[in-house]
Amino acid sequence: MAYFTHLECASICGAGPFDPRERHFLCPSCGLPLLARYDLTAARAWSRDSLVGREPTMWRYREMMPLLPGDVPVSLGEGFTPLRHAERLGQSLGLSRLFIKDESLNPTTSFKARGQSAAITRAKALGATTIALPTAGNAGNAAAAFAAAAGLACQVFMPRDAKQPFIDECRLYGATVTLVDGLITDAGRAAAEAGRGLGWYDVSTLKEPYRVEGKKTMGYELAEQLEWTLPDWIIYPTGGGTGLVGMWKAFAEMEAIGWITPGRRPKMVSVQASGCAPIVRAFETGAEKAAPWENAHTSADGLRVPKAIGDFLILQAVRESGGTALAIDDSEMVRDMLEIGRLEGISAAPEGGASLSAIRALVNDGRIGANDTVVLFNTGGALKYLDVLKDPSMTETSAIERSGD
Ligand SMILES: *Cc1c(COP(=O)(O)O)cnc(C)c1O
Repeated sequence: MAYFTHLECASICGAGPFDPRERHFLCPSCGLPLLARYDLTAARAWSRDSLVGREPTMWRYREMMPLLPGDVPVSLGEGFTPLRHAERLGQSLGLSRLFIKDESLNPTTSFKARGQSAAITRAKALGATTIALPTAGNAGNAAAAFAAAAGLACQVFMPRDAKQPFIDECRLYGATVTLVDGLITDAGRAAAEAGRGLGWYDVSTLKEPYRVEGKKTMGYELAEQLEWTLPDWIIYPTGGGTGLVGMWKAFAEMEAIGWITPGRRPKMVSVQASGCAPIVRAFETGAEKAAPWENAHTSADGLRVPKAIGDFLILQAVRESGGTALAIDDSEMVRDMLEIGRLEGISAAPEGGASLSAIRALVNDGRIGANDTVVLFNTGGALKYLDVLKDPSMTETSAIERSGD
């Protein structure tokens, strides 16, 4: 039994329902993202106990995933990543219950696998033969891998200055890579032009409605792994915000179907880079939407998103949760990426390092308490970012000196 029924505009426009047996991208009325909706009343019949013994992937929650009768997920084993009690790192910060959700263990080493598994499952079900996207890194690697697994062609458009391992990995999975002068926005324009009239299925962040559905499974997993409770804090490095928006949606769904107690949601912390912090700026000024960030720069490629199309959804979730938004300097996130490696043996991208830097700041301010349950999202692995370690300005102060242990 699957409870997926329709799509609906996520903004106050509320347009819909839209039929999921047809292709839909942004809302035809207002141009903002659409979201998948489920029959939550019928889904109250779905018991948590049914999860016991299911495959350890994100598709264990398939009843609440965007599947229609007869659809088969395109899967490479994504999701159900470990939630590790980070005892040594916690001790160094004075925290007894610090956990790392280690998304580096996904196929193609980032949580982008979740979103692309869901999006490409739908693309295939809808009869697409080519998927396309602009990307600076992990999203393109995941798209290329899942397209290969689905037997679809993949067209990736990347800024020419993207890190070489991201370019190489797209090619490894047989994708066609086009390098574009300029930023990811320029790559997006190039993709739209090249694909005009060719029927390419666009899997860009939040431009299609299903990547959020893949990423929301992180919320289901946290609840399952914490025995149907939620943590006090979720620390999430935010670019396009699909994961943060997705988890917030998952909490609402789980409350509606009776899996978790309403009113006990975590404080959501959106972490960005000082060189690209549109959400932080909007949070601080009380704005509902985020103005585009000029001259965006950071070596955390997943955070270099100057304008997120779902900005209003990110800001809503952070505010409703009583959380906050923080910007971190690149040098600090790189030092903390090394700290996660040194104390926990976990391979962390700079984005994961940024989550640790944010926790450090919130502990120092007295906002995070010693016995709070804190979940640090390590959204990707380190290996594709190792060029950052060659830059001496990034690693000047050694992690060992800083922690004094
Ligand atoms: C894409 C990406 C992010 C940002 O994810 P969103 O859900 O789009 O905000 C963070 N970290 C890494 C490693 C990424 O690849």
